[in-house]
Amino acid sequence: MAIKYRTEKLKTDPLLRKMQAAEEVIWINPDRIPFAGAKDSLELSMKDIEDAEARLLRFAPFIMKCFPETEAQGGIIESALTEIPDMRARLNEKYGSHLQGRLFLKQDSHLAIAGSVKARGGIYEVLKHTEELALSAGILKENDDYAKLAQPQYRDFFARYTIQAGSTGNLGMSIGIMGAAIGYHVIIHMSAEARSWKKKLLRNHGVSVIEYREDYGEAVKNGRRQSERDPLSYFVDDENSRDLFLGYATAAKRLTGQLREKQIPVDMEHPLFVYIPCGVGGAPGGITFGLKQVFGDAVHCFFAEPVQAPCMLAGMSTGLNNAFSVQDLGLTGLTHADGLAVGRPSGFVGSVMKPVLDGEFTIDDGKLYDYMRDMLETENIFLEPSACAAFQGPARLEVRPETCSYLEENDLMGKMKNASHIVWATGGSLVPEEIREEYKKTVI
Ligand SMILES: *Cc1c(COP(=O)(O)O)cnc(C)c1O
Repeated sequence: MAIKYRTEKLKTDPLLRKMQAAEEVIWINPDRIPFAGAKDSLELSMKDIEDAEARLLRFAPFIMKCFPETEAQGGIIESALTEIPDMRARLNEKYGSHLQGRLFLKQDSHLAIAGSVKARGGIYEVLKHTEELALSAGILKENDDYAKLAQPQYRDFFARYTIQAGSTGNLGMSIGIMGAAIGYHVIIHMSAEARSWKKKLLRNHGVSVIEYREDYGEAVKNGRRQSERDPLSYFVDDENSRDLFLGYATAAKRLTGQLREKQIPVDMEHPLFVYIPCGVGGAPGGITFGLKQVFGDAVHCFFAEPVQAPCMLAGMSTGLNNAFSVQDLGLTGLTHADGLAVGRPSGFVGSVMKPVLDGEFTIDDGKLYDYMRDMLETENIFLEPSACAAFQGPARLEVRPETCSYLEENDLMGKMKNASHIVWATGGSLVPEEIREEYKKTVI
């Protein structure tokens, strides 16, 4: 199939031709249908999200005990929603964005423990596995105080087990830090992009880090294979995991509470636009799935990917999903957005997003650093380059022909003054000072 695309469709499809030339593109999903119609065909539902929320609540006393920085929030790992009016002004002045509504930042960049969006999915999956092991061994009951898991005899129990994952960096950090806190032996298979400070930080937590010269897909494949050989090892499979996805999806209802607190209405007259950087797809897919469950067609979700690694766009726009890669397009998959350096998307996420996702923006690496410096100058908030991909959305939504047609077709043109925009900042707070200085000076 992929070969057929390379030879036939690539020559004729204008979107693919542009992607192949590593040009920035905007894509509106032609397969999206009203959420009420899509909802029942999806393999996961609101019930699954609620189950995940309840599990995180059960673990809250344990998290509080292991990570005192979460005490103020009662062991719930959640980030702030911050209005960024000066960045909004910057987008309008410097990039001609004509953004009419309000602009907010969802600061998963500052989530406790892992400093990235992976603190949602990765940590959730480690906790779910932990609960399963402990329940089936009879050392835990669902109505116990889970804080007891921090006691030494439980650590000894979990030390017999291994958890493994493939990662470009941040997933490994969330799984590694939480896994090590529980007592597991953790092995992280790091792809070539992974920054050395992330590997060092993990090793300091006692995590085994295996380095690959290949890309993310290869690191995952090797990790999966090694884990399969060990009956006491559990593999967190970023390409297929429903648990990771549901961990991310729990963001939605919590966001609802934050919007309500700030008295920001979201309904058909007050649309909400959300822009999320995409790697393999789990984080943005899970968040989008949750948001659509809560807000239905009043929320409009867009992914952002680097021009050299637009794997989700390649998969969704061709319909080939994970049977297609950015290398099939002749792209390198190499990008400064290390968290997004993924060549082949999650097939599971692609199929869930098919009737749900609104669209995609791609972005040049150079612009990641421009938006990063803009955020520092206007709001004094540091974000890692991957996270900054999301600014491509609000920068272009109200000025580009593709998205203007989208707004017209969805009867949104007259409502943009009432709109709220959320840039989902996916990482940054753990980036060491010297690397920040390096980033600040990077010009491509
Ligand atoms: C992992 C990551 C993403 C994207 O998440 P996926 O599940 O890989 O799509 C975005 N931004 C940052 C900083 C990340 O680490």
